[in-house]
Amino acid sequence: MNKDDKIKTIAIYIRVSTEEQAKKGYSLDSQLTRLKEYAKQKGYRVYNTYVDEGKSARSNLNQRKALLELLEAVKEKRIDRIIFWRLDRWFRNVKDYYKVQDILEQNNVDWECSDEEYNTTTSNGRLYLNIKLSIAQNESDQTGDRIRFNFENMIKSGKAIIGTRNCPIGFKVEGEPKNKHIVKNPDDEAFVNDLFNTYEETMSLRYTNKILVEKYPQYHFVYRSLKHMITNPLFYGSYKGVDNYCEAYLTKERWNNIQDIIKTKNQKQKIGKCKEYLFTGLLTCPVCGRRLSANGQHRVKANGDEYLRVNYRCPKHWVENKCPNNKVIQEDLIEEWLLNNYKYLLEEYIYQVEDIKEQINKTDNISKIKKIEDKLNRLNELYIEGIINREKYDKDRAEYNKQLTELKFYKDDIFKVDLDKIRDIINDKKAIEIYHKLNRANKRLFWNSFIDRLVFIGNKDYDFTIYLK
Ligand SMILES: [Zn+2]
Repeated sequence: MNKDDKIKTIAIYIRVSTEEQAKKGYSLDSQLTRLKEYAKQKGYRVYNTYVDEGKSARSNLNQRKALLELLEAVKEKRIDRIIFWRLDRWFRNVKDYYKVQDILEQNNVDWECSDEEYNTTTSNGRLYLNIKLSIAQNESDQTGDRIRFNFENMIKSGKAIIGTRNCPIGFKVEGEPKNKHIVKNPDDEAFVNDLFNTYEETMSLRYTNKILVEKYPQYHFVYRSLKHMITNPLFYGSYKGVDNYCEAYLTKERWNNIQDIIKTKNQKQKIGKCKEYLFTGLLTCPVCGRRLSANGQHRVKANGDEYLRVNYRCPKHWVENKCPNNKVIQEDLIEEWLLNNYKYLLEEYIYQVEDIKEQINKTDNISKIKKIEDKLNRLNELYIEGIINREKYDKDRAEYNKQLTELKFYKDDIFKVDLDKIRDIINDKKAIEIYHKLNRANKRLFWNSFIDRLVFIGNKDYDFTIYLK
């Protein structure tokens, strides 16, 4: 009987965060029912069910007690396969995923989703998995599960989650502790009404600012806070997407009209709305080594389309004036360059790694390590026999240990590079197609998944040295 014919012994893994318990399909019971049914259909024998309740998939591994128990069972070779509902039940973090995947592979255990299909035996499948994990990680980074859940409930019931001190002008917090609400502040009513009226009349923030500063010298506001106020939905009673959260100064319709005016008036001033710069943290200055900083501006093309123009430059030059590198590099050109060149670069990289591996094998690192280890043993003997003193012993031992660490580190490091993963990326014909469908945040994650550092070495033309993870 071959391996596939054997009845598989599986473990069911379930994770549900506090927030999700109430969501359809997510609850512990619905996951369990679904997975039991799935195991039955597939003819699996269920060894055990592991449940992490109230845990987010981005929780530290050590906080996911059930997962740790499950890994014990894996190590004890009690199961062949793990099943879970969807990949995001298992991990939302690429690094932890691979950490655990290593353990599974060492013990010939694989996994399966009941409601999503993955095929990790093909390169396409693995690339898809990587992208999927990256996306899940990004989503979960933005969520902050539990805290957000509590806040959401409070907001829905109209409770204040800030104090009067943090309330915008025009409002205050009132009520017993644990039941505080935001209400209009009668002291500010005249000012707030005047603000919206004046803006509607003048359609100019600057002019409104000028009039109000003269009329209400007791308010120490600046131009920017004025803009903040006029765009704050709280003034029509809405907070974080919950309407009728508090008393309103104006109707939603009137507030929306005002926003339209601001939008058309300030098209040119719209700056940095999207903070997802694709290569932040990846680019370094070729002269001083500092990470390049990014800034973005929304611009309008001749045909009226808006686009984001992002530039990277050395902060040590532009801010501190301590580096001669005054180059400004454009994000769209870096991206274009990478999309044109990444396959070639990755191939070259594979070639280099293989070359180094061969060198190591040739120079026979292992015998070098052995020689130093012999010297260390001999040194111990000399010291014990009283032939050398403590000072000489400490000095030599430190030196040998240093050599040893260097040899071992170099060796481990280079053999750790996963060339197959890189080959997968090269061979994937759909990679670019998938790439163009990603949003900026996920494009950023894609590059981050294998690039460690990019150094601009071009002059007029774009050219980079690429360092992989
Ligand atoms: Zn520099």
